Amino acid sequence: MHLLHTPDDFIAYRKSLSGTIGLVPTMGALHAGHLSLVNHARADNQHVITTIFVNPAQFGQGEDFTAYPRTLDADLQKLAHAGVDAVFLPTPDNMYPRGYQTYITVEDITRGLEGAMRPTHFRGVTTVVAKLFNLAQPTTAYFGQKDAQQVCVIRRMVRDLHMPLSIAVIPTSRESDGLAMSSRNVYLSDEQRTGAVCLSRGILRASSLYDAGERNPSALLNAVADEIQKESQASADYIALNVARTLAPIAVIPSADWGMGDMPHTDEPLLLSLTVRFGKTRLLDNALLPHHLNTRDGLTAVLGAG
Ligand code: AMP
Repeated sequence: MHLLHTPDDFIAYRKSLSGTIGLVPTMGALHAGHLSLVNHARADNQHVITTIFVNPAQFGQGEDFTAYPRTLDADLQKLAHAGVDAVFLPTPDNMYPRGYQTYITVEDITRGLEGAMRPTHFRGVTTVVAKLFNLAQPTTAYFGQKDAQQVCVIRRMVRDLHMPLSIAVIPTSRESDGLAMSSRNVYLSDEQRTGAVCLSRGILRASSLYDAGERNPSALLNAVADEIQKESQASADYIALNVARTLAPIAVIPSADWGMGDMPHTDEPLLLSLTVRFGKTRLLDNALLPHHLNTRDGLTAVLGAG
């Protein structure tokens, strides 16, 4: 497995390749969810490149950039075992050298949901992802459903800037009790970890209601809120219903100034998403409604780009 430390290393390595290339961008602290992306990339492509970079530009003031878990040796072992061809491991100084001043901003769809909570986050994400796309020139880039708004924002950038690649969206990998895997789960105390199952439980309840014909946005959101309220340590930042393809807002708890629209009349897929705090740790989860769309094909058709 090649270790690429600088953008120049990456450019030289990329020039040596021909054939299809799958790119899997990560921030490291790898778990089975990341490896699922790698496995899809491995199955589809002649070459697989993973990147590990805790990108300072996507962390806001007071967020966990310094504390973010870093487990490089274990990560490299997992990637070698998964058959990755090359790993790009730049430093912040390599990516943002002195004098750096170019950023990419996607506008409307970064304003709600995570963008409302973390106003500079997506600018950091799109900037680093565009840089990684330029370096890797991948056939397909692989992203997780878990960060659904991130996928929508990246798809918008890819379309708007005519970037010649596909985006595959891979379903969220979960622990056996349903908790979405996340590098940040290590921050949870034992009690918080037990309570954290309330996110996936809430989503399951709302999905079942939707699939049984419920179309009242408040009924769907309240089903999720009920599950969160059962956990004394849990506090929801938001529970939201959006049109999945556009992220047009339909309803949110607590109410927010995101310009709510109506429930679509047709059975246009919806994105149900939530962020819940346990102490300082923010956990995210989401699902497409109806439930049967939460497969790679369903997610990629609704959120990805061909
Ligand atoms: P991160 O290292 O958290 O930036 O995540 C890197 C990629 O892995 C992103 O595309 C995430 O959406 C994806 N990812 C993170 N957690 C999961 C999960 N539990 N299942 C599937 N993909 C995930």
